[in-house]
Amino acid sequence: MEHVCHFCVRRPDMRQRTFYEDEHWFACLAAPPNLRGHAILAAKSFGECPRTLTAGILGGIHTALAEVARVLTVHYRPKHVLFASLRVKDPHIHLHMFPVTNEQEEEWRKRKGAGYDSGRFLEFLGDQERDSTSAHRFERERNGWTDEHERLAYADALSSEVAALTKIAKTKG
Ligand SMILES: [Zn+2]
Repeated sequence: MEHVCHFCVRRPDMRQRTFYEDEHWFACLAAPPNLRGHAILAAKSFGECPRTLTAGILGGIHTALAEVARVLTVHYRPKHVLFASLRVKDPHIHLHMFPVTNEQEEEWRKRKGAGYDSGRFLEFLGDQERDSTSAHRFERERNGWTDEHERLAYADALSSEVAALTKIAKTKG
């Protein structure tokens, strides 16, 4: 079966989670999120799925990335805005963005213990992903949800956050 690119299709629940959009890029909250405020900034597709890191496809990313980082900063008051792009499962050009608060960082460093007093944020993201994957698996089993049920439930649960982010995005920084 051919892989359906959900960033190209942009199903209604993804549109519902979208809080930023310009000519070339859009940003939505992830469903389910790995941590509060986990956002995805994706290239828009014009006819075909944008999968190569060409200057054309990356056009305008500086504006979109700066703007989404501003929106996340205003809303979540993080200490850091981390971002990462791996694109192994979904080759469509996209970045994951994570506003990380001081409390989240401190709690994690305390849990990890010796040797974790600074840096190591790739591990931080890995730990968040692993913890959230198991928590969400448990939640799906408990509720009898399919992946689609889960996305729809998160689109509803995140609607007030999306509304607040959209409002900030419309107020130009
Ligand atoms: Zn695509």
